[in-house]
Amino acid sequence: MAETMHCYRHPKRETRVSCATCGRPICTDCMVATDVGIKCPDDARLPRGARTGVMKKGQVVRSILAGIGVAVAGIPIAYVLFLLPFTWLISAAAGYGAGTLINRAGGRNGGPIAIVISVVATAISFLVVLAPDLLGGTINPRPLLAMVFAVVAAGVANRRI
Ligand SMILES: [Zn+2]
Ligand SMILES: [Zn+2]
Repeated sequence: MAETMHCYRHPKRETRVSCATCGRPICTDCMVATDVGIKCPDDARLPRGARTGVMKKGQVVRSILAGIGVAVAGIPIAYVLFLLPFTWLISAAAGYGAGTLINRAGGRNGGPIAIVISVVATAISFLVVLAPDLLGGTINPRPLLAMVFAVVAAGVANRRI
C-alpha cells in the first residue's frame, strides 16, 4: 500500500503526489504539471518561468507570429478541405495540427493565450474561404460544421495538461 501523505499547503488533504524537485507532498489542487514532472507551486515558478500556461513575452510574440502563419497557410488548406470527402474529420486533424504548431511556438505552455491565438487563426483560414458564401447569404451548414471541428481541435491542442 502506498503511504498516505498530506499536502504541505493543505495539511488536512491526503495525497500520493509529491514535488519532483523538493519532494514535498502536494494535493491535486496545488500540483503544477511541468515539462519535467509534477511540481509544487514554489518550484514550478522556478527556474525559467516554465510553469504551465504562463508564457513569457517572447513566447507570446512567437505564438502570435505562428498564428498569423497558420491563418495564411490555412487558407489554401481550408479551400482544399472542402473539396475532399470526410471534410469535418480532416478539418479536425488540420485544426489540431495548427494548434500544435502554435503550442510549440509558444514553448509548449498551452493555456488561454495559446488557445485564443489557435482558435482565431484557424477560424480566419476557414472564414476567408467561406466568405463568398457567407456574404452571398448562402450559409451552408456543412463547411460551418467543419470549421467548428477545426476550431475546437485547435483549442484542444493547447489545453493545459
Ligand atoms: Zn517543490
Ligand atoms: Zn494543496
